[in-house]
Amino acid sequence: MKIKFMGAARTVTGSCYVVETDDHRFAVDCGMHQGNAEIDKRNWDMAAYQPDKIEFVIVTHAHIDHSGLLPRLVKKGFNGPIYTTPPTKELLEILLLDSAHIQEQEMQWRNRKKARHGEKNCEPLYTQRDAEATFPHLQAVPYDKSFSPAGGLTVTFRDAGHILGASMVELWVEEDGKEAKLVFSGDIGRPSQLLMEDPTIQKTADFLFMESTYANRDHKNETDSLDELAAAIAFSYKKREKVIIPAFALERTQEMIYSLYLLSKEGRLPADMPVFVDSPLAIKATGIFRRFQDYLDKETKALLTSGENPLDLPQLHFTETTQDSMAINELSGPAVVISASGMADAGRIKHHLRHNLWRPGASIVFVGFQAQGTTGRKIIEGAEKVRIFQEEIAVKAKIFTINGFSAHAGQSQLLDWLSHFQNPDMQVFLVHGEQSAQQVFADLIRERFKFQVLIPDYLEEVTLKPGYALLRVAHPEKAAPRIDWGYILADLEAKLTQLQSRRPQLEAKAWVEQTDLRDRIMELNRGLMETISEI
Ligand SMILES: [Zn+2]
Ligand SMILES: [Zn+2]
Repeated sequence: MKIKFMGAARTVTGSCYVVETDDHRFAVDCGMHQGNAEIDKRNWDMAAYQPDKIEFVIVTHAHIDHSGLLPRLVKKGFNGPIYTTPPTKELLEILLLDSAHIQEQEMQWRNRKKARHGEKNCEPLYTQRDAEATFPHLQAVPYDKSFSPAGGLTVTFRDAGHILGASMVELWVEEDGKEAKLVFSGDIGRPSQLLMEDPTIQKTADFLFMESTYANRDHKNETDSLDELAAAIAFSYKKREKVIIPAFALERTQEMIYSLYLLSKEGRLPADMPVFVDSPLAIKATGIFRRFQDYLDKETKALLTSGENPLDLPQLHFTETTQDSMAINELSGPAVVISASGMADAGRIKHHLRHNLWRPGASIVFVGFQAQGTTGRKIIEGAEKVRIFQEEIAVKAKIFTINGFSAHAGQSQLLDWLSHFQNPDMQVFLVHGEQSAQQVFADLIRERFKFQVLIPDYLEEVTLKPGYALLRVAHPEKAAPRIDWGYILADLEAKLTQLQSRRPQLEAKAWVEQTDLRDRIMELNRGLMETISEI
């Protein structure tokens, strides 16, 4: 069989594998490519997927980087079933519509610009109608129930512990009378997440396709994170100001409600401090979480059975309408506001930042990854002012960056998950990660477990046959070695800082040495400037 990496290869977005066996052609995940303009272009090239020749799709979970191109796949001729778990099916119905709405808005904005330049209008990637046309294709199959989407193929979803309904996919392929087991890890959850079960332990696979988002670092521990959240609340409550939490609508918002529930139980959330969930998408997602209680972890289920509801608080308010949302900012006194987007550059969170960022007693609490270039990233990197709605807003609020709430396993948790595999011949493919992190992780795996590890490139194709060596075919355009500019730049910056920090000690030494040092700094600086200009 052949596997082609259509995305999430040496990067984190666009997860999709196209699998070709002797008799069938299908896809695992169909995610949107996100990041810079170069990566975004991949979303427009559906010919590479050959949608009409894909018989069915298996979707690991509802995140857009795993599902966001499904409406486009359908629009371009795919006409088969899309298999996923029951919660994922429901989450997809709200997330794909939301994604379509964003696509439409973005294209409207671009078309206005095009019109001013006398250029022709363009169609969005897909519309809300295209998203709706995808829904009849969705077919739900629960965890741990094997099914056969086509002859010679057996699939089982296992709990990935990442977000509600997220799965790892076990796939058995029978070819020439022999059976091979493939495991697609999907996104692997952080083991002690509040609402989700720990990721399922896997023991065997001939071929493992494994995510590596946090392959080079660990997260802070959960107790510290909860303490930091409590510190933000205590600070702003005393100052009679608000705590603003930019959070992704799915999973992070619900985990924040749970965290606030825990703090409230411990008396660390004052009863007279209202909590607002101010994002229509987050409100819908929370409703789905409440309905699919079977998919929550043992601890949460036990709480629910005992009559407690960690997804509720006496002071919790959901603000659905724009008027309700605006009213939060007219409210005086302390409050907690959870709103999307998680990176603070879209959605209602922008209004809350405009009203609170400049207030010295307010807290802004970041609980998720902040990508380069986003408002969130600028704030955590210490910007004195940020631009929101065409206005420069001073950053005077207290900024908290809490990284213990991730929905992804950190490095040691990934290694621990991997340690349960018992077949030494397993071939590991690292996907869904930055190349520099993947290289570190690949070395660790080889050293510790002796598995074979490969870091496939975008559009690379591999031929798999258990017991035989791999056959790799790089995409012609991608065959040239790739230069990881981000890595080189970071490395140069680190060297430069190191040299500059040594300067005071060296100043006592001979003049000649100093001149050398200055020359090296200048040389590095030149290298740095060249790298920047090439980027
Ligand atoms: Zn995910
Ligand atoms: Zn992902």
